[in-house]
Amino acid sequence: MSTVLAGLGLVKKYGSTTALDGVDVEVGERESLAVMGPSGSGKSTLLHVLAGIVRPDDGSVLLRGKAIDGLNENRLSALRRKRFGFVFQFGQLLPELPAEENVALPLMLEGMPRGQAVQQARRWFAPLGLDGLEARRPGQLSGGQAQRVAIARALVVRPDVVFADEPTGALDQRTSEKVVRLLASVTREQGAALVMVTHDADVAAHCDRVLQVRDGRISNHSPFTVS
Ligand code: ADP
Repeated sequence: MSTVLAGLGLVKKYGSTTALDGVDVEVGERESLAVMGPSGSGKSTLLHVLAGIVRPDDGSVLLRGKAIDGLNENRLSALRRKRFGFVFQFGQLLPELPAEENVALPLMLEGMPRGQAVQQARRWFAPLGLDGLEARRPGQLSGGQAQRVAIARALVVRPDVVFADEPTGALDQRTSEKVVRLLASVTREQGAALVMVTHDADVAAHCDRVLQVRDGRISNHSPFTVS
């Protein structure tokens, strides 16, 4: 399996707190990786460093073999928009825009005309079980529907990697299950890798591998059997 994203010897300190203490991690093509661990163990920091949002103090992040940490802020933010997709705990959809325009937004940010971007965005609604909800505003969607719109928005640029930070944190157990299953399967079908922070073992079980983080270090590297 070829490596899409790698973090090598990642160190990140906040004052006297060492959030990441020398982390090595690799994600392969179409692979899904769950990052678990107690609160404060460094999960979000790891996700943010891998996604080029936070720069490491030491170590390197490689996207398809190329270091991204040396890029200036403009190039790094362009890379994040084009090559990465993001799903957060609370979808972070823009409340005043219909669902289809929320999904189209990353394409418009890349300069695609609105009509064309919305047309492309609409193609994602049926595969995500959102048929007929294109014109709804986020306030008119259930929590699970809103997260599926957020998944469509993450995938619309056809990213190399989707990063998800507690994507089911605001959902009930049954909806969580459905949303994470869809997130893992659609991401894989699109040929993207998935890096997902979650505190929920049932959610993590939908990923190919689980990484346990403790005190800024990886405490396991074992394969995980998908149930
Ligand atoms: P987790 O996601 O596992 O809860 P975090 O990565 O958020 O852990 O945090 C790891 C450690 O780094 C914690 O001790 C946290 O308080 C600290 N930390 C994270 N972000 C910051 C920040 N922006 N400023 C100061 N300390 C931070």
